[in-house]
Formats: sequence, C-alpha cells, structure tokens
Amino acid sequence: MASIFSKIAAGEIPSYKVAETDNCFAFLDINPVVRGHVLCIPKKEVDYIFDLDDDLYNDLQAFTHRVARAVKQVCPCRKVGMAVLGLEVPHAHIHLIPMQNEGDMNFHHHVKLTDEEFRTLADQLAKAFR
Ligand code: 5GP
Repeated sequence: MASIFSKIAAGEIPSYKVAETDNCFAFLDINPVVRGHVLCIPKKEVDYIFDLDDDLYNDLQAFTHRVARAVKQVCPCRKVGMAVLGLEVPHAHIHLIPMQNEGDMNFHHHVKLTDEEFRTLADQLAKAFR
C-alpha cells in the first residue's frame, strides 16, 4: 500500500504544495512546529533516507536547498533549520524549519494555522521557489 506521502505527491490526498520536480515534492507540514515548516520528499517511496541511492539522495538535497531558500525569503527567521526524523511516516522526508532560536526546532511544540493561512503561505513559497 502506498504511503500517505506517496499519495500526497501523486495528488491523491490534498496538501499545501510548495514545489515539485521530476523526482521530489515539497509541502507544508500539517502540524507545523512553527509557521513555515515544510517537508521535502523523494517521490519514490523509500522509508529510511539513508537507504536512498546516491543520485536520488543528492537530488533530494539539491531540491531541499532550493526550497530552503524560498522559506528564508518568505518566513522571517535567522536561519532555516533542517532535520530528519522519520519515526512517524515511513517515507523519507526532510523537515525545513525557519528558526529565530534553537528552541524552534522543537518537535513537541506546534502552532495552529487556518486553512487560509496554510494556503497563503504555500502560495508565497511556491512563488519564491526558483
Ligand atoms: P516524522 O516521521 O519525521 O517523525 O514526522 C512526520 C511529519 O509528517 C510530522 O511533522 C507530521 O506532522 C507530518 N505529517 C504526518 N501526516 C501528514 C499529512 O497527512 N500531511 C502533511 N502535510 N503532513 C503530515
């Protein structure tokens, strides 16, 4: 059975899409730790990120780099943090989190956004993606 993230990348489950290439997809985390929390995934379904083959791993990192630049442009922050957990969803993904301070990389803290706020943010990020 396809993972929830495969279904998101295929458009079978809705998401607040940020960017897409042939091999990768980025969308807003539905339960963000801060406003601007984005997930970058390979479209290919591989659970553990370090099991990706070299080409796809490098492709995902290059894609994440481009998405992080868009996040930095749109979300006021000192730096964009990057994290890999993968304990909840068995489909490799990189978390991008705009940080004002170290405490913003806290996966036990969440913020609520309205549907309208998610939509506006995803739209701004999509426009900033180069
Ligand atoms: P991890 O696997 O890295 O521990 O966490 C998975 C992340 O995916 C969490 O931050 C969670 O909020 C996010 N997530 C889980 N299910 C969905 C979903 O259906 N849509 C979106 N946009 N994010 C999800």
